[in-house]
Amino acid sequence: MLTNEHDIHRQRLALLVIITEVPILGIGIKALLEGLPRDGIILGVLAVALLIVPLLSAKQKHEMASYVFILFLTAATLLLHWTSGGIKDNAILVLPGILIYAALLGVDRIYIPLLVLMACNLLLMGYLSDQGMEFNPRSDGLSSAVNVTLVLIIIGITVRILTRDKINLLARLNMQVKEVHLANEKMEYQALHDPLTQLANRKLAEQYFEGIQQRLSRKVIDTAGVIYVDFDEFKDINDTLGHAYGDQFLTEKAQTLINCTRKNDRVCRIGGDEFLIMVEGLDAMQMALFAQKLLDQAMTEVTVKGHKLNCTCSIGIVLLPKDANNYEDAVKRADIAMYRSKKQGKNRYQFYSDELEAVVQRRYRLQSQMMSAVLDSQFRIVLQPIVELTTRRIIGAEALARWEHPELGLIGPDEFIPLAESNGVIDELCAFVMYEALDAVKNLRTVIPDFYISVNIAPTQLKSLDFFNKCQQIIGQSPVPTSALKLEITESDIIERDRVFDENILHIHQNQIGLLLDDFGTGYSNLAHLQKMNFESIKVDRQFITACHLNDETRTLLRSIVAMARELDIDLIAEGIEIEAELNEILNLGIRKGQGYLFARPVEVAELLDHVRESPAL
Ligand code: C2E
Ligand code: CA
Ligand code: CA
Repeated sequence: MLTNEHDIHRQRLALLVIITEVPILGIGIKALLEGLPRDGIILGVLAVALLIVPLLSAKQKHEMASYVFILFLTAATLLLHWTSGGIKDNAILVLPGILIYAALLGVDRIYIPLLVLMACNLLLMGYLSDQGMEFNPRSDGLSSAVNVTLVLIIIGITVRILTRDKINLLARLNMQVKEVHLANEKMEYQALHDPLTQLANRKLAEQYFEGIQQRLSRKVIDTAGVIYVDFDEFKDINDTLGHAYGDQFLTEKAQTLINCTRKNDRVCRIGGDEFLIMVEGLDAMQMALFAQKLLDQAMTEVTVKGHKLNCTCSIGIVLLPKDANNYEDAVKRADIAMYRSKKQGKNRYQFYSDELEAVVQRRYRLQSQMMSAVLDSQFRIVLQPIVELTTRRIIGAEALARWEHPELGLIGPDEFIPLAESNGVIDELCAFVMYEALDAVKNLRTVIPDFYISVNIAPTQLKSLDFFNKCQQIIGQSPVPTSALKLEITESDIIERDRVFDENILHIHQNQIGLLLDDFGTGYSNLAHLQKMNFESIKVDRQFITACHLNDETRTLLRSIVAMARELDIDLIAEGIEIEAELNEILNLGIRKGQGYLFARPVEVAELLDHVRESPAL
């Protein structure tokens, strides 16, 4: 842009010089012809001198070129005044022309001196004229008129060219300013909006929140709410159909959320499928109604590229000013509440409460202390016997982990296993359980020679490359044969199996370790899977056993499970048998093995050992 401007300047100066040379030479030659040699010489010298201007300009000395141009013109004009008609000379017309050039060429430093010089010069000539000095005014006939016309035309043309340049330059500048302005606006928009849905992003959400805080503190509003919306099955859509579908789905759902809100409510996207909605002036009751409306609308089916997609959402609600007084807390707490909605079965809403926060605090505490607790021997295993149902003879036991926390007391696996999976302590924990289980089975086998022990394996473990290596290390240290150990995995593990998983399963089989399918009936087992995985036994989940004697439907299901197991030649173990009636029903259906409180609760290893020493049955 700057070079451009210089180029224009250089070209214009050259043009100016050429254009000015025309009248200078014209008038000069005319003066010579009219017998005015002095004027002719002055103009001739000026014409030659002005040639320096394009030279300077070509050497990039644009400023100096402009000054030289103006100064030469001024000097020649003043000289012509003094040598010719003084104040009445035609050359007077050139003076305003020079001033206009000077202004347009930006010859600022000498502009005022130039003006003063011209004024003083005129006044001096006038004064000297009054004092009787003789000037030599030219005729005001045609010759003079020609000179004046020439000067006028030249000045007119050049001024027009120069002002055009300035106007174009201004227009260009103006456009650039607009472009910069637009680019700035765009950048600002992008910095504050999510590119996919065009909704406000985290940063803008924070600004909205601050606005709400101010209105609350100025008592413009009494209540407000931050609503955290998270779609329940979005990950499945993304994983199974791909990101293009996921994106389209989110765009549709974002619109659905907007459609549910009022003009002043704010809908923001703060993560993959996580949205924040901020509303003002609603009390808890109205907020609940609004959340229900969101749930209803959000679950409506959308069609993306021909696929019909159904997805519910879970919602967490923070009430302001009660639940939080800054953005971070508000979002964190709304997230906590949302998480609770998910835990409680999804497709529901939950208000934040301090108790919820306590649950989260406890979770964090357990998570951070878990590793040192393993090293500190705060964990132990208990054994729940597995019995032959007809004889009640103990054939094995399931090892179940327990955490004896020094301050919080006994903590169950339902609480710490998911945490151990998420923070990676599960490998250490499983190694510990396996080690303890093998130690226990060694002792129990002294009483019941074919006694086995089953250990639960968490879903993530079978996807770990060195899972089996670690198992082997522990098994290698134990004198008992690998057949004394069995591993329990759940149906959900099988659904998400991958290459590493298959390799681990292969190693398990190659080492004669029995593989049990745990919690059968709670997932979506596919018969082909079951056959391929070569399970030794299937553990029928407690939900089919509880009150099975009272429920026809459950009985029908159990009957088909028994038939299937027989077909596949797999053993069944009934879990969670609590009462005699259930046991009788199960025996009627032909299931031969089981475990449950009816026989024994999970007990300490020493206790089980004592028991079997006395009696091998329960
Ligand atoms: P699971 O594998 O289904 O284990 C059986 C659970 O049912 C045990 O709960 C047991 O105490 C309980 N149970 C047994 N019989 C009855 C009964 O008659 N009635 C009722 N109501 N419950 C019965 P627990 O010990 O709390 O374990 C819960 C879950 O935690 C286990 O379910 C298992 O999935 C997991 N878990 C326990 N220990 C470990 C472990 O060392 N590693 C892994 N990965 N998971 C473990
Ligand atoms: Ca189990
Ligand atoms: Ca189970």
